[in-house]
Amino acid sequence: MEYKKNDMLTVTIEDMGHDGEGIGKVDGYTVFVKDAVIGDTVQAKIMKAKKNYGYARLMEIITPSPDRVEPLCPYARQCGGCQIQALSYEKQLEYKENKIRNNLIRIGGFSADELPMEPIIGMENPFHYRNKAQFPVGVDKEGNIVTGFYAGRTHSIINNRRCYLGVEVNEKILDIVVDYMEKYHVPAYEESSGKGLVRHVLIRYGFHSKEIMVCLVVNGNRLPASEHLVEELRKIPGMTSITMNVNRERTNVILGREVKLLWGRAYITDTIGNIKYQISPLSFYQVNPVQTEKLYGKALEFADLSGGETVWDLYCGIGTISLFLAQKAKQVYGVEIVPAAIEDARRNAALNGIKNAEFYVGKAEEVLPEKYEKQGIYADVIVVDPPRKGCEESVLHTMVKMQPKRIVYVSCDSATLARDLKWLCGNGYEIQRIVGCDMFSETVHVECVVLMSKVEK
Ligand code: SAH
Repeated sequence: MEYKKNDMLTVTIEDMGHDGEGIGKVDGYTVFVKDAVIGDTVQAKIMKAKKNYGYARLMEIITPSPDRVEPLCPYARQCGGCQIQALSYEKQLEYKENKIRNNLIRIGGFSADELPMEPIIGMENPFHYRNKAQFPVGVDKEGNIVTGFYAGRTHSIINNRRCYLGVEVNEKILDIVVDYMEKYHVPAYEESSGKGLVRHVLIRYGFHSKEIMVCLVVNGNRLPASEHLVEELRKIPGMTSITMNVNRERTNVILGREVKLLWGRAYITDTIGNIKYQISPLSFYQVNPVQTEKLYGKALEFADLSGGETVWDLYCGIGTISLFLAQKAKQVYGVEIVPAAIEDARRNAALNGIKNAEFYVGKAEEVLPEKYEKQGIYADVIVVDPPRKGCEESVLHTMVKMQPKRIVYVSCDSATLARDLKWLCGNGYEIQRIVGCDMFSETVHVECVVLMSKVEK
């Protein structure tokens, strides 16, 4: 059977794809239905038809899946943030575990029974877990100031100050910012014309320290009547840092380079495990502090350090993993491409009195071979936490040449993880343990840590 655009069909969802879309089959024809969850029987309308498959819009849920739940957020379907809020949390975890397993089988070429997968580490509370939010600010058709999140794949703003992934105080802060803008006629930035002032509101909250940071991203050097904004914001308990960031570029990049202090300190502090961090508006910092501690705790457990080891942490960012490891190792070396992140890493090492961590700015694929070939450096354990594209093959080459006893691979994309594990397994390493960790509930993303060891000949 072949379908064409605008055809209506009834389909039972049997699987969910990488972006959380429901997948079902009708007479051998595969349909992808966004917002439908596994177990649903739905009526859907074909929007785009190919020969053997098509993309359809969910029109009506005929029989809801037993795993379907009512999303907390009334905007869950429109918003680009949460893809799977309509699925029970238990099933979300199962979906993520399957995603990792399927990628390792399909891309990595491993067989299901040779994968030592441990139960995924879920969250105790899968809402309000984010310590950072960046709300775009704009105007609606009537000229009212709106703020919230972008609708999926667009730049139109859904006016919603109550996001269930963020902390509750965000809403209060946004109310104050919008009131201030209305009262003092501070215009919102308009993407189409490049005019107006306030582009985004960045909020960060220290889960342990309870310190709050508010940073307004402004298309200009000055924020009119900002003392009135400050006066209201500082009444919020925990308010620690109020800043503005100058971004006058016509770009999708949220933050500019310059930060001006409006009130308080230019940074907040927080802890992960027993390590303290200073976080400025421009710093990278893991957004889910509770799960980060669990994920990096696993990485540390897998590294199995006894105090005498030399450890490399590639793609180290602000050194979160490096500083965790440094407490148990003889020496840690971190490598990261972004100079500002390395400055943070060094400052955070000093802040915590950690002297056995050294950081290098550069590409892992350049720094590691250079240190190895020219300086003959050594590693007992190598930890990698690359971006979604995974490790460059040259990094894997050098890693294997360095012959570490263990490799701990932290990954945010199980497809590239599978590719890299396949390479490492073909070059003298074997998988010992695999565990997923849910850092982003309600979304399709999943992190994973893998322990590999050198095959003894
Ligand atoms: N573990 C880190 C986060 C790692 S995210 C932390 O907790 O802070 C991946 C990091 O890899 C990012 O900081 C990114 O800037 C860096 N990166 C991307 N490409 C790189 C490359 N080729 N070499 C080194 N670092 C790179």
